[in-house]
Amino acid sequence: MKDEACIFCKIANGVIPSTTVYEDEDFRVILDLGPASRGHALILPKSHFRDLCEADPLLTAKIFPLAGKIGAAMKQGLGASGFNVVQNNGASAGQTVFHLHIHVIPRYEDGPAMVSWTPEKADTEELAKTASMIKKALKITR
Ligand code: AMP
Ligand code: ZN
Repeated sequence: MKDEACIFCKIANGVIPSTTVYEDEDFRVILDLGPASRGHALILPKSHFRDLCEADPLLTAKIFPLAGKIGAAMKQGLGASGFNVVQNNGASAGQTVFHLHIHVIPRYEDGPAMVSWTPEKADTEELAKTASMIKKALKITR
């Protein structure tokens, strides 16, 4: 499935050139044009899905193994000491390009610092109530 108006469809399928570090029949992995750190990569499925909720699970099952492979190459090839796997769904979550993509962001001992949040104090009752709302949507009755 391709979307003619989608820039990541064009990049993933080689219609628009990119700095590609990996390609197979399902994915192209490119370097981000606005990197959070040196080597920041994007895993782009060649098929168009808006986000994780719409994507084919047979395809998404392949993403974590690939992200691990790319992250290991960042450690070996770039001297990264770790990496983050980040995936935004929806504008409120920071998604700006509405073609499923996965950020693999190498991290280095000397920074830059990123991908952090300020933890709030969780209330036990509130946690239980929130969990029941999610479980209801998942149709889990236990
Ligand atoms: P997100 O905010 O999760 O939707 O991420 C979109 C990412 O795509 C951003 O990090 C952008 O820097 C990156 N990006 C947008 N257009 C291009 C492009 N043509 N080539 C490479 N990276 C891009
Ligand atoms: Zn697309």
